Amino acid sequence: MVCLNCNNTYEGAYCPHCGQSAKTKRLRLIEMINDFIGSFVGGDNKFLNTSVGLICRPGHLVREFLVGKRARYYNPLQMFVFMLTIYAIISYLLGINTSIFDELGTLNLNEDVEPSKYASVDFILEKLSELTSDKLYGTLSIVLFSVLPYRWLFRKYRIARPDGQELALNCTEQFYTQVFDSCTNMILSTLMLPLCLIPGSDTVLSSIYYIAASVYTVVLYCQLLGIKWWKSIILNAVAMILTVLFFALTLFLIAIFAGVVEGLSK
Ligand SMILES: [Zn+2]
Repeated sequence: MVCLNCNNTYEGAYCPHCGQSAKTKRLRLIEMINDFIGSFVGGDNKFLNTSVGLICRPGHLVREFLVGKRARYYNPLQMFVFMLTIYAIISYLLGINTSIFDELGTLNLNEDVEPSKYASVDFILEKLSELTSDKLYGTLSIVLFSVLPYRWLFRKYRIARPDGQELALNCTEQFYTQVFDSCTNMILSTLMLPLCLIPGSDTVLSSIYYIAASVYTVVLYCQLLGIKWWKSIILNAVAMILTVLFFALTLFLIAIFAGVVEGLSK
């Protein structure tokens, strides 16, 4: 077998040098359809493994990923962008006013616009990219600010790797854990989208969403670190408070800095 990617000669189902499949065929319509379906449910089942894992056993999934069982899952950043796209497409198709997620940084899709404008492809693409970028940057900035508090508060907990090493989560591992948690939130938001069609359900739905998201975060850390639920509640609550304080402090410093710069330029 000659690898079409790197010209390596080998035997087996995958190239041992670059990992490309021996079944790499010429691009045809059937391959295109296979690729598209495959990215959700096909062959390696990564999308299914990751999304089902995040809903049914979030902390176990994160621990497996952190200690090195990675081939069966999407990287959390890939998964997040994937979920964001699905969320944006479904909310657009349902024509949903996404105001209940405004707190999370999305925009209202049903702004006052000429009806004819809705039909233009540019408008749709623009709205989709606004929606995804708001949620993307909003979530990522919260996650970034939460890394140091989580790193510090959870510093004495360790997870066991199959080779016997005990790991205390470093900043990057905390970041990945938080992004996985955000993926769970995106799946919850997406599953709840059809319910947004019920008139007047906004307040109830956003309450349910925040309760479910908080429970998931607590459960995730229980399963990940093997700690008691009340310990997870306390640590997560303190971590959230520190995150908000850290964020407020940064804004405050930026405001002072901007004030000084403005003062100097006068
Ligand atoms: Zn190769």
